Amino acid sequence: MKVITTTHTIRTKGNCDIIDISTDVREDIGKAGLKNGNATVFVVGSTASISTIEYEPGLKKDLPEVLEKFIPAGKKYHHNATWGDHNGHSHLRSTLFGCSQTIPFVNGELLLGTWQQIILIDFDERPRNRKVIVQFIGE
Ligand code: ZN
Repeated sequence: MKVITTTHTIRTKGNCDIIDISTDVREDIGKAGLKNGNATVFVVGSTASISTIEYEPGLKKDLPEVLEKFIPAGKKYHHNATWGDHNGHSHLRSTLFGCSQTIPFVNGELLLGTWQQIILIDFDERPRNRKVIVQFIGE
């Protein structure tokens, strides 16, 4: 059993920017030389998330629209009063989606569905450089 950790720095536009990072994770499995195990994909920070989606233009519009209904950017949040921030909605959206996903892989292939991609979502209100950690546990 081995543990191999890789790090990616990913530039985002913020404001619910959705980036497909499936290829990065697939390439890492190849480099790690592992066949079977789990990949944990984790984003550092409290205003971004890791999730999965069918990565297509419609859902890339639907997701921000739905979030704007449930956790609108313009609402008054206690967090903004605490720090003089303007990203209370970004923190709440990040908490809702979570900061990591664990995906099993077998024979060097992630067990994702055909229409299921791993995504980084940046909820912050400005462009960011996001650190994404991928940790493989396997053999
Ligand atoms: Zn904040």
